[in-house]
Amino acid sequence: MTVTVRYAPSPTGRLHLGNARPLLLNWLFALKHNGTYILRLDDTDAARSTEEFAEGIHHDLTWLGVTPALSVRQSDRTAIYDAAVQKLIASGRLYPAYETEDELERKRARARALNKPPIYDRAALKLTAADREKLEAEGRKPHWRFLLDGTPVHFTDLIKGPQTVNTASMSDPVLVREDGSYLYTLPSVVDDIDLGVTHVIRGEDHVSNTGTQIEIFEALGGPVPTFGHHNLLTGADGEGLSKRLGSLSLSDLREAGYEAMAVAIMAVLTGTSLPIETYESLAAIAERLDFSMISHGSARYDPSELDSLNARILHVMPYEAAKPRLEPLGLADEKLWLALRGNLVRFSDIADLAKLVTGPVESVVEPEDGEFIALARDLLPPEPWDETTWSNWTNALKEKSGRKGKPLFMPLRMALTGRHDGPELKTLLPLVGRTASLARLS
Ligand code: GLU
Repeated sequence: MTVTVRYAPSPTGRLHLGNARPLLLNWLFALKHNGTYILRLDDTDAARSTEEFAEGIHHDLTWLGVTPALSVRQSDRTAIYDAAVQKLIASGRLYPAYETEDELERKRARARALNKPPIYDRAALKLTAADREKLEAEGRKPHWRFLLDGTPVHFTDLIKGPQTVNTASMSDPVLVREDGSYLYTLPSVVDDIDLGVTHVIRGEDHVSNTGTQIEIFEALGGPVPTFGHHNLLTGADGEGLSKRLGSLSLSDLREAGYEAMAVAIMAVLTGTSLPIETYESLAAIAERLDFSMISHGSARYDPSELDSLNARILHVMPYEAAKPRLEPLGLADEKLWLALRGNLVRFSDIADLAKLVTGPVESVVEPEDGEFIALARDLLPPEPWDETTWSNWTNALKEKSGRKGKPLFMPLRMALTGRHDGPELKTLLPLVGRTASLARLS
C-alpha cells in the first residue's frame, strides 16, 4: 500500500502536547508503511497566522524527530483553490448567498423558536439573477456555500470503525467568505487531492467535517482518502488541552528539559493499550502500535507520568546517545555517565551530579561521627580502585567499628558527597579516587 499522510496545523499558536498526537500518529503511520509525510501549514487565516508560529512548528517537528518529505503552506496555493471553486460553481454545488451575520442569526433564532434545528434555509438558492444584481448594486458581496446532497455519508474509520455522518442535519457550509478568503474546509480537500494524500489521521473533533469533506472530494472528482479519527488528549479534569494552555506547549516542555522521546510517548500512547514505557525509537513504537489499540474513550494525560517516564528514559540512555549532549558540558565520559544516569530526573541534572565526582563537595560530618570517619580514612584501601573497593572498605570498617546498616553507610555518604541520597557509592568511589576521597574524609 502506498501511503501519503499530512499533518496540517494552523500557524496561529504554539503547538501543545495534544497537537503532538496527530503530528506523531501520522508520522508513525508513515514509518510503518514506508510512506510520505507532508507538513501542511493551514495559514488561510492571514490575520492570525504568523511567521513566528510557523517557525515554531518546524522547530517542534525537528525536536520530536519528525522530518517531513515535503512542506507546503496554503497561502501559496490559492490558485488551485480558485480553480476548484470554478469547478464547483459550474457543477451547481457552490452557490452565492448574501445574508449578513445578523440576518443569519435572526433566522437561527426564529428556527429555534419554532423548535426546528437552526439549519440554513437555502433562501439564496431561490434568488434570481435580477435579485442578485439588485443585492450587489446595494453593495453586498456574496459568500459561497457548498450544496450538501443530504444523503448520509458512510465511511470506515481506521480507528473508530464504521461511521455515518448525516449531512442532512447540517447547514450548507460556507467555503469562501465574502472578502474572497477561504475557510479551512475546501483548501484542505483540494490539497489532499492535489498532494495525493491517501490517509487523513486527525482528531475526532473532525468527524462531522469529514462528512462534508467527503461530499466535496466526490464533487471534485476525488479520490476520497481513508480517514482515521483519534481520541483527544484531555487534562486530568477531562478538559481539552487548548493551545492557550501555555505550560503544555511543546516549546515549554522542551525548555523545562523534558526528553523529546518522553513527550512523544505521552502524546501518542496516552489513551491506548500500548504501555507507557521506554521505547528505543519512534520506529519501535510504529512497529508495535496498531490503530486498533487507540481507545474509543478519552485519553487523560497525567503530568506525573511524564516526569517518571522522562527519568526512566534517562536511566537507560546509552552513552552513545548522551555523548553529543555531554560534550559541550565537558562531561563526555562513559563511566561517569553510567554511574550517574540512574539518578537523573532531567538531563540537565547531570551538571550537579557530576560535581559529586569532580567536586567541590561540601562534606558533612556530624560530631558524633567524627571518630568513625577518622577510622574510615585510616582504612581507605590503596589504589587501584574498582567496584569491589567499596565493599572491601566498608566490610573492614564494619568489623573495626561495630557499626552496620544506616549508621555505617550514611555518615560515609554524607562525608563523601555531602548528600543523603545519590548514585551508588560502589560506582562513585572509583571515579572520585583515593586522593579526593581522603580529602573529603578529612
Ligand atoms: N488545520 C486543521 C486543524 O488544525 C487541520 C485538520 C485536518 O487535519 O484536516 O484542525
